[in-house]
Amino acid sequence: MNDAAPDWPPPVIDSAVPSTARVYDALLGGRDNFPVDREAAAIFEALVPQAREVFRLNRSALVRGIRYMVGQGGIDQIIDVGCGLPAELNTHEAAQEINPETRVVYIDNDPMVLSHGRALLADDRTTTVVTADLREPSGILANPDVRANLDFDRPVGLMLVGMIMQIADDESPDEIIAHLMEPLASGSHLFITAWPDTGEPIQRALSQACLETLGNGWCRPVERLERHFQGMPMIAPGLEYVSRWFPAEPDREVPAAGDLEPFQRTVMAGIAVKP
Ligand code: SAM
Repeated sequence: MNDAAPDWPPPVIDSAVPSTARVYDALLGGRDNFPVDREAAAIFEALVPQAREVFRLNRSALVRGIRYMVGQGGIDQIIDVGCGLPAELNTHEAAQEINPETRVVYIDNDPMVLSHGRALLADDRTTTVVTADLREPSGILANPDVRANLDFDRPVGLMLVGMIMQIADDESPDEIIAHLMEPLASGSHLFITAWPDTGEPIQRALSQACLETLGNGWCRPVERLERHFQGMPMIAPGLEYVSRWFPAEPDREVPAAGDLEPFQRTVMAGIAVKP
């Protein structure tokens, strides 16, 4: 990021307040963040010393889920809601390694994602970035860029990776997901990663770090996370800790549940398919 440029950051980007996208970028070792984001990242690491590993686990699950949806699930159009800032291997890159024609609509409510995403995608005819808010699903579904880039008569992969924990209970995350899934064709995939609360102190510490620095970020009982999937059939192994979640890589060595370190019990992933 060119911090030194006189017109950077533009007024739409508030560099005095940490943002989820930028704090996550800082924890992943990226450069698209401000001092205030790095201070927030330090609070994460103080409360959860393995915070960087936790977010890398989430990121590797993101890539595995995309490879499954495109490779095995036959998905060739994806809506990635809460996509975040460009990272090492982005959704369209992971998808297009398998099917170069995969279309991806990136959605985020952070204006910095739009500015950096557009720069990354300048030459990509199959991919676009939209600023929209998950809490207004009708706006996402009606967005002209979403409609122009995706064919709702065919299956879509809806990704809510590393973001549903930012929607409060009183903002009705399950209703939002149902609203988004409703117009999607049979065979559409719903791919979520989320934070479980099984009583492990580290799970609550992660949530506390997020709430203290960003004002949102809730871990939830596993039964609550299962409800995100709307009762749709799940791809094996169902909702599982990301270290044990391997739909695209059946040969990967998977640790036994009892062998997981506490930090490996902070993020779960699952993919459901609309009947
Ligand atoms: N999906 C990426 C991943 O898992 O690597 C990035 C996850 S990052 C932790 C969460 C992203 O969700 C941030 O970029 C944040 O700006 C975005 N976000 C948070 N609340 C949102 C909302 N209500 N609508 C759209 N995006 C949102």
